[in-house]
Parts: sequence; C-alpha cells; structure tokens
Amino acid sequence: MKKLAINGAPPVRTKPFPPYQTIGVEEKNAVLEVMESGILSDYLGTWSPQFYGGYRVQKFESEWADYFGCKHAVSVNSNTSGLNAAVAAVGVGPGDEVIVSPYTMSASAACVVANNAIPVFADIDEETFCINARTISSQITARTKAIVAVDIFGHPADFDRIMPLARKYDIAVIEDCAQAPGATLHGCSAGTLADMGVFSLNYHKTIHTGEGGMVTTASDRLANRVRLVRNHAETVVKGMGETDIVNMVGQNYRMTEIEAAIGSEQLKKLSGLIESRRHCANFFCKKLSGLPFLTLPVVRPGVEHGWYVFAMRYAHANSEIPRERVVAAIQAEGIPIGQGYVEPLYLQPMYQNRVAFGPEGFPFRWRGWDSGRIYEKGLCPVAERMHEKELIQLALCHASLTMCDIEDIARGIAKVFENLDELR
Ligand SMILES: *Cc1c(COP(=O)(O)O)cnc(C)c1O
Repeated sequence: MKKLAINGAPPVRTKPFPPYQTIGVEEKNAVLEVMESGILSDYLGTWSPQFYGGYRVQKFESEWADYFGCKHAVSVNSNTSGLNAAVAAVGVGPGDEVIVSPYTMSASAACVVANNAIPVFADIDEETFCINARTISSQITARTKAIVAVDIFGHPADFDRIMPLARKYDIAVIEDCAQAPGATLHGCSAGTLADMGVFSLNYHKTIHTGEGGMVTTASDRLANRVRLVRNHAETVVKGMGETDIVNMVGQNYRMTEIEAAIGSEQLKKLSGLIESRRHCANFFCKKLSGLPFLTLPVVRPGVEHGWYVFAMRYAHANSEIPRERVVAAIQAEGIPIGQGYVEPLYLQPMYQNRVAFGPEGFPFRWRGWDSGRIYEKGLCPVAERMHEKELIQLALCHASLTMCDIEDIARGIAKVFENLDELR
C-alpha cells in the first residue's frame, strides 16, 4: 500500500489555508477619519511647510523612527521608490558600480540602473541566501560607489563584516529590509544596520499599507536628500538653500494620508505578527528536524529572524530524486510549497541584452565606452544552484494560521521526506 497522496493515498490536507490578513477595524476607522477630514494628501512640491507632507505622514514617520530606533524615517510610496531615492542620495551616477544581490526582488538591482549606474552581482551565502563580505569584496573596484544588501526572507545580511569592509573602501551601504521588519542583529533592528534602510509596505509584506515604503537613516544629510528626491527636488533646492544638487532630480514618491493612517495602525501590530511568525518557524524547525536530505533555515548567532519566508534546502546532490518530484509530492499532500525563488536577476533580458535607456545600451555601454560588465549564465553559481536545485520555500509562516494549520503543514512535509522511497 502506497502512503503518499501523489501515489493515490489520501492527502494530509484538503482544505485551503487561510490567507495572511492583518487589516482590521483599527485600520478601517483610521481610514474613515482621513476621509472625514477631507485631506487625503497634504504635500506641496515647493519649499514650504508642506514640503514635508501632512500631519499623518509626519506622525507615522516619527512613530516608525521611534519603533525601529533610528534618527530619521522618511515615508515613500513603495520600497522601489525608496531604493531609487536612497541610491540617488548616496551620490551614485553614470559610470559608477553598485554591488547587489542576484537573488531578490528585481527592484533591489534595478534601482542602480534607474540611477544610470552599473549593477555588479555578488554571489549569495548558501546558508542565509544574502550577499556576504567575501562575495562582495571580490567584486569591489575603483568604480564601486555603493552596496545594496538584502535581508532576504527576513534574515539580516552579515552587516558585522559588510560594514567594516565598506568603511575601508569608503562605500555607502543600503539595506533592503523589505522582508525583514522586526528582524534584529545583536538587538539592533533590520533597517538600522547600514547607512540607510529601505522597507516595503506593499500588500504582501509583514505589515502593509497597500503600497508604501519607508527609508531609515541616522544621517541628516541623507534623510534630507531622500526627502528632496521624494518631492520634486529641482523645484525646491533653491528655496531650501541646498547647494549640493547632484542627483537632485525630483520624483513624486509621496505617501498619502490614507496610507500613513493605515501604517500607524499596522505598526502597532508588528511585534505580535512577528511573534506569530517566530512561533510557526520554531514549530516547523522542531517537527522537521532530522529528515533525510532536508536542511532547515540557518539562523546566524546574534540574529532574530523576521521569518518572511521559511527557506529550506534540499540536498539534491546526495539524493536520486529530483527536487521537482519532492515538491510535487508535498503539493499533492495539500501543502502549497515552492521551489526556488526568482530567477537570478542577471538572467533578465535587460542584463542579458545590456539594454536599458535608449537602444545603445546606456548605462551598460555608451558611445564606445563599455562597463566591461557582462551577465552570463554561471556568474553567481550559488544563486543558480539554490534556484535550480536546492531551495524549497514555504510562505505559510504567519499569524493567520491556526495551530491545526501549522500542524498539517509540518505533517505534510514530514510525510513526504519519511517516504522518499515511494518517489524513486
Ligand atoms: C517587496 C520587495 C521589494 C519591492 O517593494 P515594493 O514596495 O513593492 O516596491 C524590494 N525588495 C525586496 C527584497 C522585496 O521583497
């Protein structure tokens, strides 16, 4: 008698899992209050008190700064906008290189191209899936102006080693902590571990405002430059008396009062939401330990993980069964699990063809000048191996799951690994 659902046995789970849902009566009332005020946004793109946005935007920013323990929090309308502004703020421009991760959401690297500069991909650490000081240092050149390190899946990158390396070469470091609100390293919050932190408040993240983002920094100068890029810098610099106008080409990255009001309520829920994620992750670690060919998420010393994704590795090289088959068997048990994450970013057409702005290849090459950076397959072998063969990831690690749900998830995964013989 076969035991696995993929071979016709009953599955562990037939009911769908509840979606992650954090919006409640608090957010609803906060939005109604904004609607009743009639002021849905209170920005002006001129040098005036309204340059800094409305009451709720400024209130949300100061709450954010207090919560995460940083001097400045500057709200924006997405993490993508925040990354574009942060890269501009540190002074990156044409001809510069910025070291980035290949294994992340595309904006973590596109922010460099958006600032007319060259992304250089460092390989990822096979335990944390983040770029690390070793892979970064092998890519530093005289052109390197900045690093964008991502706290992927909620695990902070190794800033203990990345920051001293960056200081030595006078390189700015931007932390993309979109997936890591609530994570810490030695008690310091993700978002405060580098020169700048960029959070996402999009619908899929641990807390959200539909769309939104926040840029954090201890630097008065960088915070001000982000505020300028957020809100029509070129119109504002003269009145403000700002003389450093490099990259001060403004956008409209402004958050509305509605999102800020939602954000204030979401922030109050963050610690409880992280606690639930931690509870799920600890339960999975306990129930899935010791299974053959399965490596559980590694949490480095000093780290509190944000558990945005529960990322495991499958030892494909030691097993005769391809990952696809194992994942299909887990899915047949009614557990929605994923293999790989995103295709390594340098395999996207923009990098493969080295075409971004205009048909001549700017910023990768331009009128006879060539960055010399090419993005061939094999560039980051660890990222490719994780994507093609090893990474198995579970997004079901959150507050909307009941104890019964997380038991089913663990049982479904364990059942397959305990009966791998049936997949041969
Ligand atoms: C979600 C995400 C982004 C983009 O966030 P938006 O707010 O949608 O622009 C960037 N980087 C990472 C790592 C993300 O997970």
